Amino acid sequence: MPLLRAEEVSVSFGGRRALDEVSLAAEAGHVTGLIGPNGAGKSTLFDVVSGLRRPLTGRVLLDGHDVTREGPARRARRGLSRTFQHLELFGRLTVRGNLLVAAELGPGRRHAARTADRVLDRLGLTDLAGAPADALPTGAARLVEVARTLVLEPKVLLLDEPAAGQDTEETARFAALLRSLAEDGTAVLLVEHDMSLVMTVCDEVHVLDLGTVVASGPPARIRQDKTVLTAYLGEE
Ligand code: ADP
Ligand code: MG
Repeated sequence: MPLLRAEEVSVSFGGRRALDEVSLAAEAGHVTGLIGPNGAGKSTLFDVVSGLRRPLTGRVLLDGHDVTREGPARRARRGLSRTFQHLELFGRLTVRGNLLVAAELGPGRRHAARTADRVLDRLGLTDLAGAPADALPTGAARLVEVARTLVLEPKVLLLDEPAAGQDTEETARFAALLRSLAEDGTAVLLVEHDMSLVMTVCDEVHVLDLGTVVASGPPARIRQDKTVLTAYLGEE
């Protein structure tokens, strides 16, 4: 059974359908990609899954529990964690400070400092631990956002364009990190525009266009899918 399931989720903004009966799943140990053009509804789906937006119809299941009516904090306690498309770091805190704030809220709160330092080390951020977050280049700031979710030891991790602003080397390291998170048993759901990253790290990819899933499958199949080429890849 997948750790995360969205079932027939619909969302409307002022009568306009942003999501129209979207169903998808993310499994433990897998990196699941969610791609699609701007405005397709990817971030809106993340809002529904994380509990920031109530869907018009449909359900969200976490580890078999229907969490559709639960708020974000409750879902976080069930092991769901996310990043945002727009950076949401505490700019005046140091990198380590940002992680400590999060660690105080997570399962590792009794050992918050140790938890934070372990994640800094894993992501190669130890040298930046004392730097103020608002002084970081975008690529590093994105990584700190991911680090901040990891101190919560998530079972399901939603990443909204985490590689935007990363350079080639950062992205390569990031790809390795995503695979190692999956190996730990995390269900990773990745929204990302960097197609080579998506095609390299994902076990399965869902393509969203105008609020509907137009294709799902392994990267090799998605790359050849005609609907996808028109809906999405043709745009680039
Ligand atoms: P994506 O993340 O795939 O680029 P979004 O989920 O951000 O797409 O947006 C999907 C659609 O919903 C877009 O047409 C967008 O303009 C609209 N939308 C998103 N958030 C809101 C909102 N808070 N109010 C009104 N419309 C919104
Ligand atoms: Mg978005």
